[in-house]
Parts: sequence; C-alpha cells; structure tokens
Amino acid sequence: MSFVAAAIERQQRDAERYAQLDDDVCMVCGAVGLDRRTLLMRYFYELSEVAPEFLDLTLVDRVKSPGLPAPELGLYYLRTCKSCRGEILGAIQAAITARRALRGLPLGPDGDVDLPVELEDPERNIPVRVLGRTIMLTRPEWDEFRRQQGPPAR
Ligand SMILES: [Zn+2]
Repeated sequence: MSFVAAAIERQQRDAERYAQLDDDVCMVCGAVGLDRRTLLMRYFYELSEVAPEFLDLTLVDRVKSPGLPAPELGLYYLRTCKSCRGEILGAIQAAITARRALRGLPLGPDGDVDLPVELEDPERNIPVRVLGRTIMLTRPEWDEFRRQQGPPAR
C-alpha cells in the first residue's frame, strides 16, 4: 500500500472513530464526566505515531461536527479529562525545560548536540527516526530498539 493510500485509509478510520466518540469520555484514561478538554494539534507530524488516541480530523464530517475548525491537513484531535490534560501539559513543559537547557551549546541544525569529531562515538553509527528526529544508535541499542518494536507491520 502506498504512503498516500495508507494515509487516506487512516484518515477514513479516524473519521469513523471520531463519529463514535462519546464527548464525556477521556480518550486517554477512559474517565467519564462532563468537564472535558479538547487538544487540537498540528505539528507537521503524524501524531497517531506518538499515541494511537490522536485522531486525524482531515475527513471528519464538519456538518455533523460544526464545532470543529475547517478541514486542515494534519490537524489532530484528543479529548481528555483534566488529569490527563495536566499530565500532557507537564510532559510538554518538561521537554521544553530540558531542551531550553541546551541553549548556548554547539547544536546541529536539527537541534542535536553537535559533538566535536574526537568526542563522537564511532560505534554509534545507525541512524533511526524516532518521533520525527534522527538519533544515532549502537548495534546493541539497535537490536534492543528492534526487539521493542516487534515484527514489521504487513
Ligand atoms: Zn483522562
């Protein structure tokens, strides 16, 4: 299946999932209640790769869902309870705080720590895409990464 066909199939599946959502149920922990919050996120990244709960809104029926913004490619939806919202915002805060600490260090154009050649690990030579960035792994790390990923999807 081509990348485009797979994306359309996923968008159709997400539109069906969206149509069946109960607005009172947190999509992350399943808590039921009236006071839910909606995260809309567009980050030029397939967020369902981060967590399958993220729904791609591209093909969601806007007539049946008038509260949604106009169709926009790559806009994702997640409805949560306040506790999950707090966890998600805390994770974003922690990531930004950690990344902010890198200011002033020699960084590559993608924000990776740019080590001098003499400090680079020649064994760390396997590039892997993880959550939209490339990291370099050693062979044992690569083997562990593959073991955690499981067999390739068919
Ligand atoms: Zn929750």
